[in-house]
Amino acid sequence: MKPNETFATCLDCADGRTKEPILAWARKNIGVQWVDLLTRAGMDGSLLSGLHPVIVEDLRNQLGILLDKHQSKHILVSGHCECAGNPVSKEMHRVCIRQVCQMLRSWNLPEGVEVIGLLVNEAWEVERITY
Ligand SMILES: [Zn+2]
Repeated sequence: MKPNETFATCLDCADGRTKEPILAWARKNIGVQWVDLLTRAGMDGSLLSGLHPVIVEDLRNQLGILLDKHQSKHILVSGHCECAGNPVSKEMHRVCIRQVCQMLRSWNLPEGVEVIGLLVNEAWEVERITY
């Protein structure tokens, strides 16, 4: 890792279509160079639907490594339209994303880490939905 490299971490769907929009949004809006990705199909829904504790623990462990080793100061939680893994309405994605953000804030995150909810809309544009 070069000294000038900066990272955010995104809990994202596995869908390939969200990756470029989220990277572009992060570069423009939070000034990071890279976005590390933790993905599951329908991440915003699956984190709320009784995932096996081993899977949640695995995600928490991976998140901890990225926050620590990449000094990531932003966790992005994203959901998107046309999602195969969480096929709900745009409004329901907003609800899910906000709830996942709340859940992550209860995860004993390192000091100064901000959790931001993002919805990738039907035009594949990123909307920030939490502040
Ligand atoms: Zn998806």
